This record gives sequence, structure tokens and C-alpha cells, in this order.
Amino acid sequence: MDCSIRVSSGYRSPELNKLVKGSKSSQHCLGQAADLVVHGRNSDMFMFISQYLTFDQLIWEFGTDSEPDWVHVSYSDSGNKRQMLRAVKVNGKTKYIIK
Ligand SMILES: [Zn+2]
Repeated sequence: MDCSIRVSSGYRSPELNKLVKGSKSSQHCLGQAADLVVHGRNSDMFMFISQYLTFDQLIWEFGTDSEPDWVHVSYSDSGNKRQMLRAVKVNGKTKYIIK
């Protein structure tokens, strides 16, 4: 079983962030965020990070109730609020709900 962690997005320049329709305040543009994928184990990774690691934001990105498509995690030297969110599409727009 392949349990490697793939970083599908790390630092983004403002230009790239615009192209991928990232949030204007994206921590990807500050080098503080990464999107992670572990094939078939994204929910386990989400739970692990939420329980054992320090983070600013942890986002369950789309997917289903049992498995996100990927996990967004950020870390900030100026403080970590340990905020957990779930990204969902509502009428084609991304909404974040508290998880
Ligand atoms: Zn992200």
C-alpha cells in the first residue's frame, strides 16, 4: 500500500494563486500552507494532524463525509489558531464551514 504523502500544492506566487482561484488571503502565498494527499488515507491524516500537531488552519477539502479530496494545513510563526474547517461547494462557490 502506498502511504507516501504527496504535496499537491505548496508555495504559490500571487499569479499562480489567481490562476488556481485561490483565496486572496491564501497562506499558500506566504509559504505557510501545504495541500497534502495520502491516497485513500486523507481522513486519517486529517485526524492525526488535528490531534497531534500544531497548526493554524486545517481544512477538510471537499470529498465526502468520510474522506476529503485533500487536506490543507497551515502553520504560522506569528501564532496558530488551530481552526478546523470543511470546504464545500454551494452553487459552484467554495464555502468554509466550521468542523
Ligand atoms: Zn491549500
